[in-house]
Amino acid sequence: METKNKKLMIPGPVQPDDDVLEAIGQPVRAHYGPEFRNYYLETVDCLKSIFCTQEDVFIIVGSGSSAIDACIGSSLSKHEKILVGVNGFFGQRALDIALNYGLNAIPVVKPWGKPLTADDFVNAFEKHPDACAAAIVHLETSTAVVNHIESIVPVCHLNNAICIVDAVSSLGGIPFYMDEWGVDLCATSSQKCLGAPPGLAPVAVSKRAWDFIDQNPQKGHGWYLNLRIWRQYAKDWSDWHPYPITMATNNLAALRTSAEGLMKEGLKNRFERYKQLAKYLREGLLRLGMEPYVSDELMAPVLTAVYGPANIPTGQIVDYLEKHHGIKIAGGLGDLKNKIFRIGHMSPTNTFNDIDLVLFALRDFVNSLDRTV
Ligand SMILES: *Cc1c(COP(=O)(O)O)cnc(C)c1O
Repeated sequence: METKNKKLMIPGPVQPDDDVLEAIGQPVRAHYGPEFRNYYLETVDCLKSIFCTQEDVFIIVGSGSSAIDACIGSSLSKHEKILVGVNGFFGQRALDIALNYGLNAIPVVKPWGKPLTADDFVNAFEKHPDACAAAIVHLETSTAVVNHIESIVPVCHLNNAICIVDAVSSLGGIPFYMDEWGVDLCATSSQKCLGAPPGLAPVAVSKRAWDFIDQNPQKGHGWYLNLRIWRQYAKDWSDWHPYPITMATNNLAALRTSAEGLMKEGLKNRFERYKQLAKYLREGLLRLGMEPYVSDELMAPVLTAVYGPANIPTGQIVDYLEKHHGIKIAGGLGDLKNKIFRIGHMSPTNTFNDIDLVLFALRDFVNSLDRTV
């Protein structure tokens, strides 16, 4: 495997700060006992301030998908109906997770590049008043489009349904207010806007979600990703081992370091910093004649989806930047493969200089086209 470091400008995993990498390189310690238990619970508290919640938070050992799997699988039983917003690759994944649990999963479809809105769910609940949950991706990473969680949640609650949110690529990078918005279950991961290496998947669970889960003792599939099991250990083993499995201690140290870094900078300051980077990048792309995939107000400030120069398969751009500039950007997913490319700027380490390097590399790519004709 190539060992030389590439500059990661993809929508996860991101390049962590040096202090985060130092934390993950510390000696391995026991994952239990009063001291480590405190360390875990303090990390949970720090994450609560990032979720903007007073509700329960658990740190699952797994990738972001494991957290989504836990939220959906723990909440519904076979044949129960769930509405799933699908306007991109990750909405489709949430739908697949629901279908794999044997749920009656109804896609609420919007074309890729268009945000899901309250009206989409008003209409869906009209057709499916028996739906008892909805799952929606906050930032649809395949298109960079942000869905209107804050206006969709009240629609779910009016219809006595809980609202499950995939905030894997958004939490810590763009505004997300779990309690204020009334989100019931929220899944995220360590390796995107939280700025740590991959491996941990924080989950937040509201009281409303617990009431819903507890109404039906049949709910909760399996053991590892069953939130009831996580709650049970958090309670029964709270004094020494508040999780059912071996905590990934080094990953936890890394996540704690990056989460504390975020809170030290301040959520608002961090969000503003990413906005400035996005603005700078997008102005530069326009100067290169590269059009954004969707308009600025739809696009998350931590990720830019853009069309390449006319008729060039965007996979070529991705390869060129990696080969000639050591910069890793992302191509398009699904139908957008070779049509767009995506630049992630969701790492706390990202600077204007990184953006300059990307723009310089893209200009070089454009010039290389002129050289070949
Ligand atoms: C990255 C991502 C996922 C999947 O996360 P993994 O950590 O790869 O399991 C899910 N949803 C969204 C919106 C993502 O961006």
